[in-house]
Amino acid sequence: MLLIDTHAHIYDEQFDQDRDAMLERAEAAQISQIWMPNCAQETVAGMMALAERYPERCLPMMGLHPTYVNNTFEVELAAVEDQLNRNAFMAVGEIGLDFYWDMTFVDQQFEAFRTQLRWAAEQQLPVSMHTRSGNDRSHGGRNAFAEAADVIEHLALPGLTGVFHCFVGTLDEARRAIDLGFKLGIGGVATFKNGGLDKVLPHISLDDIVLETDSPYLAPVPYRGKRNEPAYIRIIAQRVADLMQINIEDVARHTTANAQALLPALYANLLPE
Ligand SMILES: [Zn+2]
Repeated sequence: MLLIDTHAHIYDEQFDQDRDAMLERAEAAQISQIWMPNCAQETVAGMMALAERYPERCLPMMGLHPTYVNNTFEVELAAVEDQLNRNAFMAVGEIGLDFYWDMTFVDQQFEAFRTQLRWAAEQQLPVSMHTRSGNDRSHGGRNAFAEAADVIEHLALPGLTGVFHCFVGTLDEARRAIDLGFKLGIGGVATFKNGGLDKVLPHISLDDIVLETDSPYLAPVPYRGKRNEPAYIRIIAQRVADLMQINIEDVARHTTANAQALLPALYANLLPE
């Protein structure tokens, strides 16, 4: 049984004291690949050091995270573009819209998002998308998923695909993401009592999801609130199996195949026999 963690910030300083041990635990948990989303220029060096040390296990993405978009975003975007032209990456990410923390640079967030979606389509790379809504959607909080889906629809970029990372939407939103040709990234929220994914997962196909931890954030129950790590992907896989009433081996086989199908040709040689 092989698993892929499609979204983990394992270069984060929270792993500085025990990164090798954390990666050993991931290997013992049969995690064949860990995909690393970039945040901004400040995270590139740590991420690339891991990609060089573990070229077949730790695969880097390149992108500017929406919560890092501010009045210097054009400088940050130029650095992303430069990296995309110079180095190999498995995806453009993480990119998207965040209406939760701060709306000051929301116009710039949209511009950065559109620009990076275009680069992904040009380079034929998948995207890892962050869509975090504002507080209390029913009372004026904006729905980041819906607005991101609108952007993707309007741009209609040929061949664009990827993952709605940390999907926490409704069944209608899940179907919209799937219709757009994207996978749903299912993580620790699936194990939360009020996470809402119990109303979504039983009604969609195993072919439309991939697994992720979003380490060091969003640890699954019983580690909720503590540091998350890739080895916990097994807990998420088991929870998905329970909600879909299938066995964990089927969850692993399908989600790993779904993830591998997203990989650009350059990484095709990593596919296990
Ligand atoms: Zn992330």
